[in-house]
Amino acid sequence: MNIPQLYGGIEAGGTKFVCVVASGPGHIVEEVRFSTTTPAETLGKAIQFFQSFIASGKVSSIGVGCFGPLDLNPKSSTYGFITFTPKPNWSNTDVRGALQRGLDVPIALDTDVNAAGLGESVWGASKGFDPSLYLTIGTGIGGGYIQDGKPLLGLLTPEMGHIRIPHSRDLDPFNGCCPFHGDCFEGLASGPAIEKRLGLTGANVPENDAFWDIEADYIASALMNYILVLSPRKIILGGGVMQREFLFPKVCRRVHELLNGYVASKSILENIDDYIVPPGLGTQSGSLGAIALAMQIGGRKIEA
Ligand SMILES: [Zn+2]
Repeated sequence: MNIPQLYGGIEAGGTKFVCVVASGPGHIVEEVRFSTTTPAETLGKAIQFFQSFIASGKVSSIGVGCFGPLDLNPKSSTYGFITFTPKPNWSNTDVRGALQRGLDVPIALDTDVNAAGLGESVWGASKGFDPSLYLTIGTGIGGGYIQDGKPLLGLLTPEMGHIRIPHSRDLDPFNGCCPFHGDCFEGLASGPAIEKRLGLTGANVPENDAFWDIEADYIASALMNYILVLSPRKIILGGGVMQREFLFPKVCRRVHELLNGYVASKSILENIDDYIVPPGLGTQSGSLGAIALAMQIGGRKIEA
């Protein structure tokens, strides 16, 4: 019998960690979830989970999709660290180093959204569509742009949640809740922005509330900018807010209106419902994305 190669994946979120041993969707051998507490305790649990798989030779590389911001510059003295985060105890945490010391296999670290975007491009809704964009709209807003099978990395990782978008204070007097920019995209359209504005979580705002047209307009405005700058062949919208599925047709309609025929692609002009879509891997984009990171590092020489 042909036993597929297994890989380790960690979806390292600010609320919970998901650790998996898998070879891809439909073949997850083992999975464990635990709350994110202190770095020592949380990373310790992750190390413990993988130790036996590594000792038996079943797992030979591990991918990590981690909350951030992260330092991903290999030449930096804080490479692989979470830099500054409002999450208590986690600023200046050497995530990659701690895992590397505890687990003697190659570790591939990237942001949670980059990992999810990569997972979707390998097995999910953007498979065969390169470049592609994965955007999460939930507790925060972030985007992973995958080109030639790799997440885009520049000076730092892109911060797509913090772009400026039109904000009519007549229509929506809310000041926004981003501590850095007030009414940037995340400050206006994230889950916490909805809750602060309406006093209800996004999951509990009724479908017929007029606010959803405003939310769809914010998302569509941001997507218009990403489409014009990055020209992705597929856009995936994930995260808690997008679990309200009625938002998809509203967003698609509004993107179509805003672009006004300017981007002359059939994907937008005729098939926009197939162009802006939910994650193909459902809630597993992040953990399977971490597996995809592990596969990439396991399948090629690691650059010094
Ligand atoms: Zn901001």
